Amino acid sequence: MGTRHLGIIWDERFCNVGFGPEHPVSGERYKETFSLLGKLGILKENIIISEAKPATEEELLLVHDPNYVKNVKKMSETGVGELSKDTPAFRGMHEYACVCVGGTLTGARMSAIDHLFPFVSMAGGYHHAFPDKGGGFNIYNDIAITAKWFLKNEIFERIAIIETDAHHGNGTQAIFYRDPNVLTISFHETGTSLYPGTGFVNEIGEKEGKGYCINFPFEPGSASSDIELVWAVRKIIPKALRNFLPDFIIWQAGVDSHIDDPLSNLRFTTQGFQEITKIILKAIDENTKGKAIITAGGGYNLKSACWSYASIIAILAGKRIYIPEEVDQNRYASPNAVPRPYVFEQLRYLEKHVSFLQ
Ligand SMILES: [Zn+2]
Repeated sequence: MGTRHLGIIWDERFCNVGFGPEHPVSGERYKETFSLLGKLGILKENIIISEAKPATEEELLLVHDPNYVKNVKKMSETGVGELSKDTPAFRGMHEYACVCVGGTLTGARMSAIDHLFPFVSMAGGYHHAFPDKGGGFNIYNDIAITAKWFLKNEIFERIAIIETDAHHGNGTQAIFYRDPNVLTISFHETGTSLYPGTGFVNEIGEKEGKGYCINFPFEPGSASSDIELVWAVRKIIPKALRNFLPDFIIWQAGVDSHIDDPLSNLRFTTQGFQEITKIILKAIDENTKGKAIITAGGGYNLKSACWSYASIIAILAGKRIYIPEEVDQNRYASPNAVPRPYVFEQLRYLEKHVSFLQ
């Protein structure tokens, strides 16, 4: 495995998140992850590092309602109010969110137009933001804005969005639910046990978008969790992308599904993340010849989030890293583990109802 070209969007302003000291989201994780990448030697060879160009209001309006943006800007001036119970306003919230959206947009454009190899944004992945509302710690939907920007400017016709965050990408799904130009594929913990309570296997899109939405919910974790994750990603990603033929891939690579994460009941490990990264990277190479943006998403245990993200970026950069045993204590599923029956049932349902999987 030789090293690979990889772009990284890193911006100190990603750390300016101000939800408060008691909130699960802090800027520390972004800073610590970037610093870990440096210590591990990942940033040395064949890596381009760039800052984020903040998103403009015109770019936000590709997805968001003018009144919602106006409302966020107002709250951003005073720091008073909330987008939802879990997403309180803070001073500078609008500017902060524009930098994060801009990180995804900048990386996506650099990948697609200038460099033709994948880029990672160290922030982004705000898949719970809807056109007219925020929530789930998310303000503006950088993923949807990036996809819409490419479509609106007629740079690409077909975009695939892959999500592996513990939470279902309800905002992203809703935005493209009737859109046959965007295939959304989300792997997440089932809505019966986790926020936002959606993303069931029978949500497959509607009207012209019917069959362009794939959801693969996982049951709360067991000892075989990693096996189920890798199995599902391997069954779905290569086939769906080969049939959909995307021009560009956006991957929301949230790591809050890690075994030590306090916000989900999944039990994935850094090894599981590395295995799915290999599958997704191969699909990026084969389908878009390297044109892709990978965003951060969730991750709320500082240590496991930093190492999970570093483990993904190491694979993307074609570099080997040593993951210390204390990170997930060899809790990757044993070689004898097999997926539980529900995963086969879900795949059968998808193969019956989604033409890209037939
Ligand atoms: Zn999440």
